[in-house]
Amino acid sequence: MFPLTALPPEATRLEAPSGPAASAAGPRAGHGLDGLRVAQVDRGERLTAMREGRLGSVHSWELVTAVDGPGTRLTVFLNGCPLRCLYCHNPDTLAMKDGKPVTADEVITRIRRYAGVFRATGGGLTLSGGEVLMQPQFAARILHGAKALGVHTALDTSGYLGTNATDEMLADTDLVLLDVKSGDPETYRKVTGRDLEPTLAFGWRLAELTDGPEIWIRFVLVPGLTDDEANVEAVAQYAASLNEIRPGALTRVEVLPFHQMGRDKWKAVGREYELADTEPPTPELVERVREQFRAHGLTVH
Ligand code: SF4
Repeated sequence: MFPLTALPPEATRLEAPSGPAASAAGPRAGHGLDGLRVAQVDRGERLTAMREGRLGSVHSWELVTAVDGPGTRLTVFLNGCPLRCLYCHNPDTLAMKDGKPVTADEVITRIRRYAGVFRATGGGLTLSGGEVLMQPQFAARILHGAKALGVHTALDTSGYLGTNATDEMLADTDLVLLDVKSGDPETYRKVTGRDLEPTLAFGWRLAELTDGPEIWIRFVLVPGLTDDEANVEAVAQYAASLNEIRPGALTRVEVLPFHQMGRDKWKAVGREYELADTEPPTPELVERVREQFRAHGLTVH
């Protein structure tokens, strides 16, 4: 998801392979593909393997604590995203073609290596991006493989392609980090270039699943863009509606303060960065927004 936000103070990175990147909860420069074998396949075989989910387009991976879900997590970032968030921290994840071909088996081997760490810390695997649901078959295989190893699984998504997630895939998902980028449809379009409705529909579908995944909502607070009271209120009402459908489904709302740390990446990929002059939110603004969520009885971080 890679929005441009600050890491929570308790967050740590245990391992930093190589290459620049970030994540939904913050800029995490320093991870890459190190240790993941890039598959050597010809074009014809590549398309078939990708369609079957045996092969995917991967940007990078990293091991983090207190980010992207509980405990210590292996977060794998997939390439490709249909959204164009103004605050996207990693414009180099947006195109599928910019990722590297990696097999699902290779990722599962990596998960197995850290299974002990996950058990000891209550952590697990998080699939992020980009947008994971651009590669649903690949994601489904990895999630299934992780569950077979007894590893906790999280899916970080905007929900825009929620219809790509099958019920079987969701049965292999313990936690969905649903990035709700705005509550007002016009603001959502301004932030992402896309419609809000598919995200709302996906969250409601998750809530309607009797034994469905736990849900966290993540909201990036950008002064002058997403901070309007009515916009925040709409996200808060939506969040509360999930618990009305399935009490206890939504266990956390994360308000992620915008931060200026990805600016140079936009330059590097030759794209105009519209938020170049936007300041991070003041502590007072962050508190006002968190309070708006709390007023709906929600647990806010
Ligand atoms: S949804 Fe896509 S465009 Fe938006 S922050 Fe995530 S990766 Fe970037």
